[in-house]
Amino acid sequence: MNGEFDLIKKYFSFPHSRDDVLIAAGDDCASVTVPENKQLLITTDTLISGVHFPIETAAEDIAYKAIMVNLSDLAAMGATPAWLTLAITLPEFNEGWLERFSQSFYEVLKRFNISLIGGDTTKGALSITIQAMGLCDKNKSLRRDKAKIGDKIYVTGSIGDAAIGLQAVINKYGDEKLQPCITRLNRPEARVEFAEALVTHSVCAIDISDGLVADLEHIVEASNCGAKIHLPRIPVSTSANYYFEKYNKAIIDWSLLLTQGDDYELCFTVNAENENKVHDFARQYKLKINCIGEIIKEKELSFINAKGRLEKFLMTGFKHF
Ligand code: ADP
Ligand code: MG
Repeated sequence: MNGEFDLIKKYFSFPHSRDDVLIAAGDDCASVTVPENKQLLITTDTLISGVHFPIETAAEDIAYKAIMVNLSDLAAMGATPAWLTLAITLPEFNEGWLERFSQSFYEVLKRFNISLIGGDTTKGALSITIQAMGLCDKNKSLRRDKAKIGDKIYVTGSIGDAAIGLQAVINKYGDEKLQPCITRLNRPEARVEFAEALVTHSVCAIDISDGLVADLEHIVEASNCGAKIHLPRIPVSTSANYYFEKYNKAIIDWSLLLTQGDDYELCFTVNAENENKVHDFARQYKLKINCIGEIIKEKELSFINAKGRLEKFLMTGFKHF
């Protein structure tokens, strides 16, 4: 291996088939074309070892998650992924690790027809920064500031699995029945295809990365409204329910489920007229969706428990500072 150029050539030069890439990796900049009727959406996310994933996480899972968290941001705005850049900092040259990282990275690129068009490679504590770029029809992007009073609030999939997966890893439970939650932690699934369909019948969405409470707060603040959420309607997976049965005296810890983040599900609002169509999409994409509440005029975010009482959360989501 002769420096980072060989490393880039060997592990980060993937074949790609997009004809909108004019200049890919290899020059000082990459260059792409954006069709006249489309809008470009750009997002970036960093994953730091020990902060965004446990240090023992497998290379293939790190690659998968690093891309998915960015695709989740694109999905939140209804964009179709197109291009990525990858800035990677590696503590050492470890061939096996790079091989596994690279292979898994390429699998996700192929699955979504994304081109890796550039990046940066440096030495230091392990961290991965991806910039993802995607396209949507002009003025059709979903936005967090578009919720309207009376809209129904929906979430995809189930909420809080990654939080439990993290508990399982930290506490080394070694319990097979918690594996689905660990998989959710290491291999989140960005709701890309569903989001592409959603733009026709919704205008407001966010992806749940910091926890449902924090991300709902973003929607109501940006949209200048409030939300009433019914806790019993929030989808909790079988594996998560098992966790509470076995490790928490059969008490559901809503704070854990709703404030730890790493869900990468979508939270979106729908005008009551469009609810049926959205359910049709969900069936078509084999994705579970649940109505968990509604947008209200009063500027407050309230969570109503099974007894009809207000539930208070001490923490509101993961914050770095
Ligand atoms: P420069 O010094 O001109 O900024 P670099 O030496 O950082 O360029 O990178 C050389 C080329 O390799 C650039 O085209 C860059 O986009 C690409 N590149 C560097 N690291 C990566 C990576 N991890 N994945 C993909 N492309 C990369
Ligand atoms: Mg240069």
